Amino acid sequence: MAKPSSYDVAVVGAGIGGYVAAIRAAQLGKKVALIEKDKIGGTCLNRGCIPTKTLLATASLLYKIRRSEDFGIHAENVKIDFGKAMARKDAVVNRHIEGVNFLIKKNGIHLIKGEATIPTKNQIHIRKAEGKETIDIENIIIAAGSGEPSPSYARVDEEKILTSRGILELKEAPESLAVIGGSIIGIEFAEIFNALGSKVWLLETAANVLPALDKDMGRIYQRTLKKKGIEVLLNTEAKSVEVTPSGKVGIKAVSKGAPLDIETEKALIADGRRPLSEALDLEKTGVQVKDGFIVVNEQMRTSVPNIYAIGDVTGGKMFAHVAAAGGIVAAENIAGLKSTLDYKTIPTCMYCSPEAASVGLSEDEAKAQGRNVAVGKFPLLASGRASSLGEEDGFAKVVCDGETSEVLGVHLIGPNVAEIIGEAGLAMRLECTNEELGSLIHAHPTISEALMEAAKAVSKKAIQI
Ligand code: FAD
Repeated sequence: MAKPSSYDVAVVGAGIGGYVAAIRAAQLGKKVALIEKDKIGGTCLNRGCIPTKTLLATASLLYKIRRSEDFGIHAENVKIDFGKAMARKDAVVNRHIEGVNFLIKKNGIHLIKGEATIPTKNQIHIRKAEGKETIDIENIIIAAGSGEPSPSYARVDEEKILTSRGILELKEAPESLAVIGGSIIGIEFAEIFNALGSKVWLLETAANVLPALDKDMGRIYQRTLKKKGIEVLLNTEAKSVEVTPSGKVGIKAVSKGAPLDIETEKALIADGRRPLSEALDLEKTGVQVKDGFIVVNEQMRTSVPNIYAIGDVTGGKMFAHVAAAGGIVAAENIAGLKSTLDYKTIPTCMYCSPEAASVGLSEDEAKAQGRNVAVGKFPLLASGRASSLGEEDGFAKVVCDGETSEVLGVHLIGPNVAEIIGEAGLAMRLECTNEELGSLIHAHPTISEALMEAAKAVSKKAIQI
């Protein structure tokens, strides 16, 4: 029998975490295998970040066109071509998949198409279309990601009861859509389909949308969603979601303690993701797993020295940029460099109109740590740039330690704020005080001035408010 191929590093999963890890390991001179059972690019590229942001660009343009009279433009007979919007989404996705394929080849990475299991710490079994293969491995990086939710209260069929996977394949916009889950994924889809003309309900069990973020973010965002005509139902828990005999979807919920029934054409389950660790057959390796998530330290090491794990399969902040950063950290540690993931400065962004972006501690989290907290806020109503754009819904908020003035968190709602949050993250990485952040001269007129003013406002020195 032929001797198994051997590699310095095998990466399981070619999502954004996996292919970034593979490229970095190859840059560092390692012989790398990248194993993928489905499409290159994983969730982010095929069913997550990029398709949703492409459709959100359509939604944002539609919202603007509907307000075009305010800007002195008469736009009549505006028609939505759902098929074309979806085709544009597919074209964007495919172009970037090609780009990733090019990078994999350019870096000399051996791509293996098949499903991996990890029976021992130095071997991977791969089930391929043409048969089975075993490879010998010095180091493994698990980047198996996460899958769509499968809740006990609903049977997902991806036709009427959808997850983010099925909704991105629809052939036409539904007349009505109930979105279950008022966090980022749910709100983004609520906006897309509201803009495309669907009647949309958004059900959230917590008292605010965006419950994981600073409470001011949820409070302001609720207002903007309602303004658009999205029916936001807070303190509302879906108990059952079923296809009815008439072919609609019936939702039985409890809203603020009272029963609530909704009949809708489609429902979207957007209340969490589940890690894809089970099918890896990790038991014999001794890799520690908790609630399905692989346990790692800040170097992305698991409990087994030559096995690393990154991205959604490790839980925590399940974002593409975290998976990619984890991939670099894992590859560098394998190559003997000392590299760690800075969890404190990971941004959270939502790409609706307006955008939301946040980094670090919320005001409540800072208080819960027993700190004396000082806060500065600046409303976009007072921003010349926001007014010129016609986008005054939003604010900047800076949360500081009241004793040391160190910036602990920054929370922004407004146009393109996802592009600004990196500045706040850098300020936190450098342990800046609010005075330091506020003293940096920002171009005028920009939305970033709101961040500067909020930083000044912590010490009551804001000028424009
Ligand atoms: P994945 O991208 O899930 O990739 C894992 C890969 O591993 C998959 O391709 C899978 O097929 C493969 N795999 C799994 N098991 C095996 C196996 N046994 N053998 C071989 N291959 C295997 N994040 C952001 O930062 N910004 C956003 O705007 C954003 N928008 C999102 C919108 C939606 C609708 C969703 C669902 C997610 C969004 N995310 C966003 C989250 C982001 O997509 C994930 O955090 C990111 O994709 C995680 O990357 P990953 O590499 O860990 O896993």
